[in-house]
Amino acid sequence: MNILIFGPNGSGKGTQGSLAKKKYDLDHIESGAIFRQHIGGGTELGKKAKEYIDRGELVPDDITIPMVLDVLKQSGAKGWLLDGFPRSIVQAQKLWDALQKDGVKLDYVIEILLPRQVAKNRIMGRRICKNDPNHPNNIFIDAIKPNGDKCRVCGGDLSARSDDQDEGAIDKRHDIYYDTKTGTLAASYFYKDLAPKAGFTYIELNGEGSIDSIKDTLLKQLV
Ligand code: ADP
Repeated sequence: MNILIFGPNGSGKGTQGSLAKKKYDLDHIESGAIFRQHIGGGTELGKKAKEYIDRGELVPDDITIPMVLDVLKQSGAKGWLLDGFPRSIVQAQKLWDALQKDGVKLDYVIEILLPRQVAKNRIMGRRICKNDPNHPNNIFIDAIKPNGDKCRVCGGDLSARSDDQDEGAIDKRHDIYYDTKTGTLAASYFYKDLAPKAGFTYIELNGEGSIDSIKDTLLKQLV
């Protein structure tokens, strides 16, 4: 089983992706995590990539594309969930060419849809409970609004992650994601157009629902 997943930062892509990954016992191939491993290991690739990552830019294709395609090739027999790649129309095309060339079947492409302002509010409104980071608290989402300035689950103290409050950095990532001409949405539309001809299923999930309702919708469609 091979799955591609698209969704803006703030859409719950990680949560839903891990569900699909567990269901089919897939290798989780996450481009950002591969870069972080290289940076942590002090490799040449990591050193080059770090400059771009620190500026919030995409790492150039001549580094990123071969790196991801190589990890895909090494993946186990059960298949993969690819997350964070492709992020541009060029990467989308190159990935498709490589899959065709290697005779690899793509089964599902998942797109989580969420308006840009909603995604931004979700990130900026997120509050972390000091007792348990998984307690859901968000000052902009009615269903999980904190109790005043305390955790809605346990009453613990709340804080905001500093990178969640960096509006400039959020905007920069979203500029890339929501770019329908050459960016990540262009990449997802490339696969959406291809789906009926190429025989894989394109699943669109409305990211505005609750985590559980999105999970249910997703599970019904993954057979
Ligand atoms: P984020 O969701 O914050 O962008 P990721 O962990 O997905 O975090 O990626 C971290 C960084 O790695 C990105 O900001 C970008 O610089 C680089 N990166 C990840 N995936 C790609 C890709 N497909 N193409 C180019 N650069 C990428």
